[in-house]
Amino acid sequence: KAAAGEEAAHPRWVRINAIKSTLEEQLETTFRGYARAGTIQDVVAKEGKHILIDPHVPNLVAVTPGCDLSKAEAYNSGKIILQDKASCFPAYLLDPRSEDGDVIDACAAPGNKTTHLAGIIRSHEPEFESQPQTIFAFEKDSRRAKTLEKMVKIAGSSKMTRIALGQDFLQVDPESERFRNVGALLLDPSCSGSGIVGRDSMPELHLPDPPRQNPGHKSKSESTNKRKRKYDQVRDSNQTVIRDDDGNEIVVESEKDLAARLNALAGFQLTILLHAFRFPSARKVTYSTCSIHSEENEDVVMAALKSDVAKERGWRILRRNDQVTGMKDWPVRGSTEACNGDEEVAQGCIRSYKDDGHGIMGFFVAGFVRDHANANGDG
Ligand code: SAM
Repeated sequence: KAAAGEEAAHPRWVRINAIKSTLEEQLETTFRGYARAGTIQDVVAKEGKHILIDPHVPNLVAVTPGCDLSKAEAYNSGKIILQDKASCFPAYLLDPRSEDGDVIDACAAPGNKTTHLAGIIRSHEPEFESQPQTIFAFEKDSRRAKTLEKMVKIAGSSKMTRIALGQDFLQVDPESERFRNVGALLLDPSCSGSGIVGRDSMPELHLPDPPRQNPGHKSKSESTNKRKRKYDQVRDSNQTVIRDDDGNEIVVESEKDLAARLNALAGFQLTILLHAFRFPSARKVTYSTCSIHSEENEDVVMAALKSDVAKERGWRILRRNDQVTGMKDWPVRGSTEACNGDEEVAQGCIRSYKDDGHGIMGFFVAGFVRDHANANGDG
């Protein structure tokens, strides 16, 4: 099946779930018969099924767009997970190790990053069953939390994951005994979704249907084309389209509306980040969005670094040189201008843009670390 539109320019990204399978096993089974490609452009453009082993994120491959894996045994049994490369950055950057103790995924549904965290823990500690680290996965929206539950179950990570159904992370007391051993937190809060590639939602654009002139005689492709045209009309006017967490489109009528919405989102995102800084044993935090707007990204990072809680507890940016190899090597970094000229912070920030040839969605992630847990102002 040929892919169309934006989708055709992006490969299909597939993460191999280290809890249930290995890259080698998947190359021998699900991807048997796929030709090896040398570049993303080859994966996208060459005839036939191609595969590329990602050079940055372990256990990740790119395959020809349009390859339908939804019926593959590996997909239905949770051995592979369809997850954009950029969405794999936060858990990989957080790199939870046994010495980090328990882990929090603060905004978890549908669970891509929760299950990735579990896979990474398992890769580091194959014997984790005997000495489990717990992942606390919070999700405020009960309906979305049900999806999270399903995903965690199919990925085989239920044993190490405690799902807080309908629990607001901001209502959780960082000083609680339950979280005494939490050393690492992954924060992937709601955002404008401005980096999401249209491919995921193109067939279901969630835009109102154009008026039906000839009901009953419309092929699926005609219908999609009409929706696409409607989408383009919105883009062509002075309106801006952003998405909510479900991929629903929200049309912002003016620059002023957009600024107000970004401002509100940034306030919420900063609150989540500062809340995470308050966990007494925490030493690592990642903050991510699928937004391309600096208001939700570098600006939030800069405000967090300037906060009293960051200063009191010794939080600083995770510098590029201290990042896991694949992220250190990733070339697209934060905006120095948005970081007020602070090159170290800008280089610590990891970005991607959906049209830059890497075949991934627009994304942002930054890591924060501190050298001494339980610091109370003196280090
Ligand atoms: N990390 C998820 C993944 O990779 O599959 C995607 C997370 S999505 C961007 C943000 C999620 O955070 C939404 O499901 C939203 O309902 C949830 N959320 C927003 N505010 C929250 C809060 N205060 N506490 C817990 N969850 C929250």
